[in-house]
This record gives sequence, C-alpha cells and structure tokens, in this order.
Amino acid sequence: MSATAAPTARPAAQPERGGSLEQRLAARLERLRAADLYRVRRVVEGGHGAVLRVDGRDCVNFCSNDYLGLATDPRLARAAQRALERCGTGSGASALICGYNAEHARLEEELADFAGRPRALLFSTGWAANLGVLRGLLGKGDTLVADELNHASLIDGGRLSGADYLRMPHGDVAAFGRALAAADAGGAASGDQREVLVATDGVFSMDGDLADLPSLARLCQAHGASLMVDDAHGFGVLGRTGRGTLEHFSDLGGAPFPIPDIYVATLGKSIGAAGAFVAGSDQLIEYLVQRARSWIFSTAPPPAIAAAAREGLRIVRTQPELRARLFENIARFRRGAAQLGIEPGPPAAAQGLPAAVQAQTPIQPLVLGAESRALALSAFLRERGYWVAAIRPPTVPAGTARLRITLSAAHTAAQIDGLLQALGDGLRALRGGAES
Ligand SMILES: *Cc1c(COP(=O)(O)O)cnc(C)c1O
Repeated sequence: MSATAAPTARPAAQPERGGSLEQRLAARLERLRAADLYRVRRVVEGGHGAVLRVDGRDCVNFCSNDYLGLATDPRLARAAQRALERCGTGSGASALICGYNAEHARLEEELADFAGRPRALLFSTGWAANLGVLRGLLGKGDTLVADELNHASLIDGGRLSGADYLRMPHGDVAAFGRALAAADAGGAASGDQREVLVATDGVFSMDGDLADLPSLARLCQAHGASLMVDDAHGFGVLGRTGRGTLEHFSDLGGAPFPIPDIYVATLGKSIGAAGAFVAGSDQLIEYLVQRARSWIFSTAPPPAIAAAAREGLRIVRTQPELRARLFENIARFRRGAAQLGIEPGPPAAAQGLPAAVQAQTPIQPLVLGAESRALALSAFLRERGYWVAAIRPPTVPAGTARLRITLSAAHTAAQIDGLLQALGDGLRALRGGAES
C-alpha cells in the first residue's frame, strides 16, 4: 500500500545535551541558517494591498492571497467601522458563553446560502476550523485519508485526532481508492461504526493545482466515506459565480458528483477580512457546536471583522468583474512567462501528471529546487521593487523551493509586465552565477 505515515512534528534535530535552553536553541537556529532555512519577517507600513511600503520603499506585492484586492477596499473598512461604532472591538467571550453577535449570525446565514449548504459555522481562523473539525469528528480507531500536500492545519488536525492517518501521494486518485477499499475491509472485519474521512485541499496552496474533487466525491460515496474539502484558495475565486472549486468542476459540465459532506473556506484570502467557516448539514454544524474544541474554547471573532467579511462576500456576489480582471491578469502573466521560456506550475506537472492539474488559479509557482536559488531570485526581485517570498521546506517538499507568485485583480498590466521583465533578468543572472 502506498500510504505512508504522517511526518513527525519535530524538525530533524540532533539531541543536544547540557547547556541552557538558549544555548540549545541557538545551535538549532544556526543549523537552520546554514541550511538556508532561516526565516525572517519584514514589517509593512500601512495597508496590505498590491503595493506594500517596506523600509520606507514601495514594492509591488506578488505573494499575498488577497486575490480580489478586497483587503484594502474602503467598502470593507467602512463596514467594519460602522460595526465598531455599534459593537465596539471585542466579543468578550466564546460564542457559547455570550460572544455570539448578530453580525456573526448574519454572516453564517449568508455564507451557508452562498455555499449552497444548510448551515455554516464561523471560526476565528482556517487553522482553528480544520483542527476543530478533524479533532471533533475523528478519534482513535477512525481513519483519515489525506493528500500529502494538504495544508499544515489539516495535517495537524488529523494527527491531533488520534485517527489512523493515511497520507496519499499527491493527486493519486487510485491510491485513495485502494486506501478506502482497505478501510472498508478493516471496518467489515470489526463490524463497528468507525468514521472514514477523506480530506483534501480544493486548490493546493503552494502548487496552485486542483484536487480531482468529482473523482474523490464518487469514491467516497462508493465506500461510504465522508469528504472534507478545504477551499481556502478556491472560495471567492473559482467557478462562474465565485463559489469555489466545486462550482469550477460543475461548470466543466462533466457527470454530476456528490456534494462533499464538509466544506471549509477562509475569509482572510479572497474575501479580504479574517476568519473561516465550515459549511454542511444541520447535524454537522450542531455536532461541531458541541464538540469542536478550537471553536468552543476560543473567543468569538470581533463583530466588526464579521461585518467586513459580509461586505467582502457581498462584493464577490455582485462584482464578477473582479474575478474577470483576476483571470485576465493570470493569463497576462502566463503569456509573458511563456515568452521568457518559463512555465510556472506545480513540480508535479514535470512528473507527467495530467494537464487537468496544471495551475489555472492565481497561484503560479516558479519551482527553483535549491533553497539558495529561491532566496537569490527573491532578493533580486526585491532590489527591483517586487516582493515575491521564497517558499522553502518544510512548507514545501525538499528540493522544490520556489517563488510562489500570486496574482490579484488589483495588479495593473504594467506591474505584471514589470515583474516579468525583472524575472527574466533575475533568472539570467542566476544562470550566469551558476556558470561562473
Ligand atoms: C491559509 C490556509 C488555511 C489557514 O487559514 P487561516 O485563516 O490563515 O488560519 C487553511 N487551509 C488552507 C488550504 C490555507 O491556505
């Protein structure tokens, strides 16, 4: 069987003995630095739009998840401001105690309606939503079947649940099928009521490719397993009306497929606010209210953030031209890249996966391999006034360090052309460096 165990939580570290905690940490930090894996933050002054002010200098932002440019849209800020005046800043308690505000309730109704599911439950972050669902639904003796490139929050949630964790090769539907068949056999043998859950990103966050949701949904139905889709990067972006990856596949017009049991999406990316929601049946939401610890034991988000998310959702529903502009920008970038002889896309594409999984989303990774190459190109672009963060292990598999270039509806044609020019120069400089 091709499933492997989930990776262990700790980074590879030799056991250090003696000395103080600070000395041991200093040694670990030194190893990260030596391996080009050291990470630092840069401080942005002001808003997080298409142009960011850093160290007194403007640079064009090509690495955020603000795909529609709503994070700095004044309409969202005004909606939040009105709610701030009405409700103040804090919710004061978790939703079950007394922190559940009318803004939260309205947002949940609107999200459920837009997602086309009976109910939705608002979480403070996508991380909390995934932990809450997996730990709430699964326990010892249950089985989680998960794509190996799933977001870290799905991996940690799965581990925390205590369920058997089967990690599938990325996008390998046949492997999912074998794992589900094996789980069937195990379940029949013990004759019990174990849960078997398949979890996948809709759009993979570092590769920009799509899960084959129709095939996974049919597989789950055939095996009596449940399906959980984390659509953090599809929601508000993909599909004719922005409803996400499921709508994208419906638009393609293939055979109908079952609706996944659990749909998770975030509100801090295309929606321009913060938070996340789980959408699904009445029973799912009621059960999460009883059992999702990351929701029960966490202060409800500020009502003003919910108000901003409602305005973001309203704009997604009423302004399809934002998505049209985003997809024009993606196409412009890909045309220009092709002229430079670059083909952005997941490393999997190089391994001969079908064209269906090629990037067709705002996430256009440029895989460079070695950490040092990704860092060098990122630094070159920064000098030229473009911010594209280098993504390194453990965020991506070893040997696939990359620039994760993301497009937004807020980018101008000139900004995209400027990035392409700088990319061409930077790649030439990298090659020159390698030859000398
Ligand atoms: C960003 C992201 C999350 C986490 O959401 P936050 O609201 O940022 O905590 C979860 N899943 C995926 C796929 C993501 O990209």
